[in-house]
Amino acid sequence: ERLVATAADREDQAVEAALRPRDLGEFIGQSRVREQLDLVLRAARARGATADHVLLSGAPGLGKTTLSMIIAAEMGAPIRVTSGPAIQHAGDLAAILSSLGEGEVLFLDEIHRMSRPAEEMLYMAMEDFRVDVVVGKGPGATAIPLELPPFTLVGATTRAGLLPPPLRDRFGFTGHMEYYEPAELQRVVHRSAGLLGVEVTAEGAAEIAGRSRGTPRIANRLLRRVRDWAQVRGDGVVTHEAAVSALAVYEVDERGLDRLDRAVLGALLRLFGGGPVGVATLAVAVGEERETVEEVAEPFLVREGLLARTPRGRVATPAAWRHLGLTPPAQAPG
Ligand code: ATP
Repeated sequence: ERLVATAADREDQAVEAALRPRDLGEFIGQSRVREQLDLVLRAARARGATADHVLLSGAPGLGKTTLSMIIAAEMGAPIRVTSGPAIQHAGDLAAILSSLGEGEVLFLDEIHRMSRPAEEMLYMAMEDFRVDVVVGKGPGATAIPLELPPFTLVGATTRAGLLPPPLRDRFGFTGHMEYYEPAELQRVVHRSAGLLGVEVTAEGAAEIAGRSRGTPRIANRLLRRVRDWAQVRGDGVVTHEAAVSALAVYEVDERGLDRLDRAVLGALLRLFGGGPVGVATLAVAVGEERETVEEVAEPFLVREGLLARTPRGRVATPAAWRHLGLTPPAQAPG
């Protein structure tokens, strides 16, 4: 497992519940989504109505699950959590929908990965609070209409564009989650440290924030590794020195690149003069699968402005040379 992976690992799952902000006021950053959502929820409460369906789009680890729980808490409603891949048959969805209570929140993570028949059942459920449950098979099959109590669907997806338009259009509100600013992540680190009972200095929190790739989940994970280092080799306080030393052990550099990221960038610079080079060649050079280079390392390098994907291949930017402390080859004359 990479320390800078965006998906939750076992340890994350074990501690994340304890680190989750409980209401909108506690939720750090995402000021636009927070303000928009605050209006949606306040208005619904004032009307005594169930909140509109909400779609949250954004990269993993930015707080979509957390926000869905906050929506339920703010509405004083229970929440049911499931995910697209868990719903393979329309019947799975019918079972969940028909057991929802009035005003309940259904969180559907990775909603873009639901099966087609389930998706079509969801359209009707979202719009008319009704599903047709098909009983029996073949020519004798009958559809039994089932009324549902009003509920709020909170769908989460990495990209809203992945959803078929008819599904997207049935959400009353779409919140786009952005990567967090370092100052915001610094507040996340302070807050989490408080909850974990760890002392952290401003410089320690800033150093962790700067290496967290804009993602609270990664900030919380790096904080735990630095805390370990501080306990074993330091005085228990998460200082700047503890952060730098601990993250050197885990090979996460000051910009949040890990060993794989630096291997890809290093090969591009040292072996191919900064490119352009094909991704397949680059993958062979670092001894990784093409998919690993393309899907695991490259997105962050592109986002950081260190690598560009061009029709002729991968190209390093001047910032990439600077980051690895290398000098670009002199421009060919003419
Ligand atoms: P995934 O899509 O992988 O499920 P997610 O977007 O749902 O990820 P969460 O599980 O909500 O992400 O958040 C990951 C961790 O980051 C949680 O421990 C949560 O406490 C923390 N976190 C997320 N957003 C914030 C925030 N705005 N303020 C404080 N902590 C946050």
